[in-house]
Amino acid sequence: MQLGSREQGMEYQERPDACLLCECSETGLDFHHWRYGENKVGCYLCRDCHDDVHRGEAKTENPGWLVPCVENLVSHHLEYHDNVDPEVDVILDRYNLPNVGDVVSMAIERESP
Ligand SMILES: [Zn+2]
Ligand SMILES: [Zn+2]
Repeated sequence: MQLGSREQGMEYQERPDACLLCECSETGLDFHHWRYGENKVGCYLCRDCHDDVHRGEAKTENPGWLVPCVENLVSHHLEYHDNVDPEVDVILDRYNLPNVGDVVSMAIERESP
């Protein structure tokens, strides 16, 4: 019996071959945590992308870093991937995000022309 493995964001067991954001295949992928203290809810990013998502207000020293971090992620996602018709669920799944669908959809709206 396997309970509780998919509650809020799955756990990643495998390291992907490439950064989920820019798709560069770097060997030194960082694991980015969406929730510190609740390990394994997060995704693999290359160092450059990891720095990018933590830019500005999204530094983890800021107690409210999560929202600006999700906003940074969405804006980079739209740059690197199909930005014609972005879907919230696709973004939540791809980056193994916790319950921040509303933040993602606001960020998409803000980035759309
Ligand atoms: Zn990257
Ligand atoms: Zn991080």
